[in-house]
Amino acid sequence: MEPDLVREFGSYQSWKINEDTWIISFMGGSQNMYLLEGEERALLIDTGWGAGNLRAHVEKLTARPVIAAITHGHLDHAGGCGEWESVLMLPGAEADLTTCCRLPFDVSKLPHPGFEHKYVKDGDVIDLGGRPVELLDISAHSNGSLAFLDRKNGYLFVGDELESAQVLMYDAAPESGVPFDLDRRLRAHHANMLRLKGLEGQWSTLFPAHNGAPVAPSYLDDTIALAEHIYAGDAVIEDRLNHVYAEAGDPEHKLCRVRWGKVSFFVNKADLMTLYGTKTL
Ligand SMILES: [Zn+2]
Repeated sequence: MEPDLVREFGSYQSWKINEDTWIISFMGGSQNMYLLEGEERALLIDTGWGAGNLRAHVEKLTARPVIAAITHGHLDHAGGCGEWESVLMLPGAEADLTTCCRLPFDVSKLPHPGFEHKYVKDGDVIDLGGRPVELLDISAHSNGSLAFLDRKNGYLFVGDELESAQVLMYDAAPESGVPFDLDRRLRAHHANMLRLKGLEGQWSTLFPAHNGAPVAPSYLDDTIALAEHIYAGDAVIEDRLNHVYAEAGDPEHKLCRVRWGKVSFFVNKADLMTLYGTKTL
């Protein structure tokens, strides 16, 4: 029997975090998108795999006009962009959109395959009507990653840059053609996480895109410490990824998991060893 791809990748469960915010959960609950309503507009954070049925789902949740935005351009977050006429993104996310060619769906068949890429930048504010949402450039895991800061509710949406299980810190989108320098990425990641830590008080709740949400703020502390312990050379290297899909995609066993506390990165082992305990952060 042919697998039912829409059922696998485009099956959504939604529930409210508060009066005007929805979690849209999919992939068996392991991945989330978010819908934020203001008095005049709504903001959709991420567009899923491109199964073609997300917009209809979102328009059942809100009657407000929807602004679509992506945390970054990886295929599981940006595949459905073509359901909207335009999508907000960092310019860096554009290179990663080429990963969509590996999607299980033909996204050229979506209603707006030539959707407008509306570039945003760090510090921009999306006004939903009584609910400003500030954009923060936290690119490290990807070539263009946004966090969304909703000060009114104390919510911070962090995409794939921070989560409870693992953050991918290897080149997950080689088709982008952008070189992946682990040292540079780890330094950027550490600086970004320190910046989010410095904004504590303006947010209280962290919403990642994968593997559970919300997560306790202590995940941010552990993530900051992870980079520091990698450079100090005492982070814990786990040779097995213990992740069935990641292991299947790494037949030559080039990746490892490097951990501190509750958090870990998936990294290229050879790249890790060039800086593990040998450089200062
Ligand atoms: Zn990603």
